[in-house]
Amino acid sequence: MEKYCDSCQKMVVTRILNTNETYEIFGEKIDVDAKVRTCLECGEQLYDEELDNATLVNAYNIYRQRHKLLMAEEIRQIREQYGLSQRGFSKLLNWGDKTIHRYENGSLQDKAHNSLLIFLRDPQNMREYLSNNETGLDAVQKEKLEKKLDDLEPEIERNNNDRFISSYFLKKPSIQNGYKVFDFEKFYAAVLFFANTCDGLLKVKLLKLLNYSDMIFYKENGVSITGAQYVHLPYGPVPQHYDVLFGILEALKIIHVDIKIDNGYEKHQIIPDCNDYESILSADEISVLQRVYKKFENFGSKEIYQYAHKEIGYMETRQGEIISYEYAKNIEL
Ligand SMILES: [Zn+2]
Repeated sequence: MEKYCDSCQKMVVTRILNTNETYEIFGEKIDVDAKVRTCLECGEQLYDEELDNATLVNAYNIYRQRHKLLMAEEIRQIREQYGLSQRGFSKLLNWGDKTIHRYENGSLQDKAHNSLLIFLRDPQNMREYLSNNETGLDAVQKEKLEKKLDDLEPEIERNNNDRFISSYFLKKPSIQNGYKVFDFEKFYAAVLFFANTCDGLLKVKLLKLLNYSDMIFYKENGVSITGAQYVHLPYGPVPQHYDVLFGILEALKIIHVDIKIDNGYEKHQIIPDCNDYESILSADEISVLQRVYKKFENFGSKEIYQYAHKEIGYMETRQGEIISYEYAKNIEL
């Protein structure tokens, strides 16, 4: 491409060279790969709006990563999830009309703006923001956004559940959870597998089937399926907080528990309300669940209870203690 070279003072043939440049962004030096247009006759670097802008955007992106700022694409996603135009989003936030447009095109965002955007990524926070702030939106725009938030309600619900559930569990993988942070989706898929596979499945039996599945999968793969921790209780090892988890499963209409009185004893039978588990579990996970199911197919609650009580992990822990996945190596199936 021919361009005017100031040094040669004429139109010259140019080419693009790869080089490294250092930009200074808010007083911080950022090294960045750059493409620059150079004069083939004198070697001088020539101004090229497109190339130079791309380099600046790259430098900004490095700065963003370093300071955990949202990428331009993420800002666009946040806006689009609410069905807002760039101008509409700016109005909502009481920012200058062009602000969002500039950010989405690579301009570096203000840090306070960045924090607000991260906060508003969560639809529940957006609802809160909308009801507590006077925004530049007109009535029609506001109504449209509220409608959008209604549509996002199931997602808000799910986020709430996730937050609620994760508040109960270890935040980090360790030997206690089979090197996996509790995964509620896997947990309910495993519950659904057994509830759909076993006729008349009782809760006491299910709790032990879950324990065997996680332990065996851990023994063979070095990681558990659900990330549940198992607690030593008088009637065997059970997933920690299983009562809370079953409450959520019922509320989400994934299963329900049918209570029957049999010979003066309460029997809690697990009834599946859907069978949507196959897409959630891997083939390896399903194969372990099937083996566990087969092994205990004809075991009543009492027999599986007696069987589970002889496991070393159970015998060597006391009531209320977590049974480490360390003991998985002793389990044979
Ligand atoms: Zn030149």
